Amino acid sequence: MTLEKKVVEEFRKYFGGEPDEVVRAPGRVNLIGEHTDYNGGFVMPMAINRAMFMAIRYRSDKEVHLLSADFHQPARFRLDDFKYLKPHWVEYIKGVANGLQKRKLPLQGWEGVMLGDVPRGSGLSSSAALELAAAKAFSEVSNFPWDPVDMAVVGQEAENDWVGVNCGIMDQMISSCGQAGHAYLLDCRSLEGRHVPLPDGVKVVILDTGTRRGLVDSAYNERRQQCEEACEFFGVALLRDVRPETFFAKADQLPELTRKRARHVITEDQRTLEAAEVMAAGNAERLGELMDQSHVSLRDDFEVSNDALNEMVEISRAQPGCLGARMTGAGFGGCAVALVQSDAVDVFAENVMANYNRETKTEPAVYVTEATQGACRLEK
Ligand code: ADP
Ligand code: MG
Repeated sequence: MTLEKKVVEEFRKYFGGEPDEVVRAPGRVNLIGEHTDYNGGFVMPMAINRAMFMAIRYRSDKEVHLLSADFHQPARFRLDDFKYLKPHWVEYIKGVANGLQKRKLPLQGWEGVMLGDVPRGSGLSSSAALELAAAKAFSEVSNFPWDPVDMAVVGQEAENDWVGVNCGIMDQMISSCGQAGHAYLLDCRSLEGRHVPLPDGVKVVILDTGTRRGLVDSAYNERRQQCEEACEFFGVALLRDVRPETFFAKADQLPELTRKRARHVITEDQRTLEAAEVMAAGNAERLGELMDQSHVSLRDDFEVSNDALNEMVEISRAQPGCLGARMTGAGFGGCAVALVQSDAVDVFAENVMANYNRETKTEPAVYVTEATQGACRLEK
């Protein structure tokens, strides 16, 4: 049974009767453009075929009643009186409600069942899917117009300011703005985006190493600081503003670590822009090469990969039909992403699983995905 059907069934069981609507918001994978977001640069994620679904029904009062079908757990809060309580999935939804109220959008109560298949904590952004599904639910029951960019910002604010997780805007933007069959070239400074069609004849494959980021917060802060040092040297606010020519002309005056960090960010922006161009032109081979180069840069210059990710990328590249592979997300664990010829994808998935298992004695998860639409109400 599809999740869409299942969430409706769970709704009937728990609340009785029919939901008014079902909304869906997807997780995401970033094809290229890593650690460029907080440098004001470019990213190119796509929305994946795993998502958060909510079956929802209008309430005439100001209460939100929820059931997480994944956690078998109910939760509720009042829209006229709520505050942060403790780490819990409902806080993401309260955070979204808070952001909408700050924007003076009048909110109506609702009841809903939530069911998702974005793996949690794997770096595919189940949290952004949850935030955008909640925003969509509020917009449906309260009947305010849907502004995808502003709703992405609401999601990010919920995560940053309410839940207390420091994240950029990429995940929410793609979960909100994604288009089927397309990746999304996003300028993280202006929040302007461009939908870029995925080339024919290739599939995107997500490879979860099963390793989870450990010291990621301190390493992340350290990387950010190193990027700021490079900005100071070049007299710019964001590394996005350093032209590659300028960088390479002066790079030898920088301390080695700062130079490597900046080199990653500046070349990654260029790779991401080129990736969008070659993708639009249907050149999957070149896209794959750029993904390979991105991995090398993340591994050697930015130093945010780990053994498991490197192993996964090596194994992937060795398979027939693999056009490119790289770590994706913040790093130090989580997922890799590969671009694979469609007719080779089944054998690819089998071989990668078997080889990775043999090398590391762990079971990877492999998800073949197409690009799907961002947050939306599903047609009945
Ligand atoms: P991710 O990388 O998947 O975004 P996060 O740690 O940012 O990982 O977010 C995971 C959190 O989001 C979970 O701990 C939970 O609070 C919430 N969440 C994600 N998916 C669901 C779900 N299906 N049902 C309820 N809460 C969820
Ligand atoms: Mg998250």
